[in-house]
Amino acid sequence: PIGIDAERRMRTLPPLPPETPTADAHKFSRGMVLVRAGPMKGAAGLSAAAALRAGAGYVVLEDGGPAPLSAIIAEAPAAFRARLDDPRVGAIVVGPGFPAGDALAAAVGEVLDAGKPLVLDAAAIGAALPRLGKGTAAAILTPHEGEFARAFPDLRGSKIERALAAARRAQAVVIYKGADTVIAAPDGRVVAAWPGSPWLATAGTGDVLAGVCGAMLARGGDAFDAAVAAVGWHIARARSIGRGLVADDLVKTAK
Ligand code: AMP
Ligand code: MG
Repeated sequence: PIGIDAERRMRTLPPLPPETPTADAHKFSRGMVLVRAGPMKGAAGLSAAAALRAGAGYVVLEDGGPAPLSAIIAEAPAAFRARLDDPRVGAIVVGPGFPAGDALAAAVGEVLDAGKPLVLDAAAIGAALPRLGKGTAAAILTPHEGEFARAFPDLRGSKIERALAAARRAQAVVIYKGADTVIAAPDGRVVAAWPGSPWLATAGTGDVLAGVCGAMLARGGDAFDAAVAAVGWHIARARSIGRGLVADDLVKTAK
């Protein structure tokens, strides 16, 4: 059997493509992202800021705390829920700062009903799992090791094998995070990002990644390609910051 290191080397992350908005871009054509907040408002705020930095033209945050970037539109829950029907919405992010419980189950039910491409992070993964793959829209799941083990406790094998099995089961793209990050699609596509940047081992960086996934997904392309671009963006930004990185640094400035 192939060793995990050889397996990783065979499936390395492609370089991040250079990108410029098209000359005729407007804020809605660049992608509109909704971030459904939970009780830990800072986490959802980081996701929203990350979505803007990663190129979304318009980001709406439900009931957020002080948002890290002034262009984030913060809306009360009722106004936010009305947005779920807006045809311009390209992706919805739920999970950052939102622990498991009845409120999360209700939020996940609502966003699944909206039928839009979804980014499901943290406890939202387990909450959504029973409904995924049953005619639901494209989804990217972003579990770290503990969240993966809770959502897919029976899976065995290498990290690549487990990521692929989880993607097939959920019928969703899985970004299985960690010091090495494996991205797997239900159709068998898989890449590993190795090495990443160990400076990412700090609170809030996963919330940033979820928001970046939202921006990439809101562009309307393939969910696996969106996930690969998001992980590439996250690692490239972390490497350019380097020593002393905290999650806010990933979103506070354009470089
Ligand atoms: P979370 O665990 O949700 O806060 O997400 C942490 C983020 O940091 C994920 O994108 C991980 O892949 C990344 N990360 C954590 N530890 C490391 C590490 N040692 N090397 C590279 N990336 C890491
Ligand atoms: Mg996290």
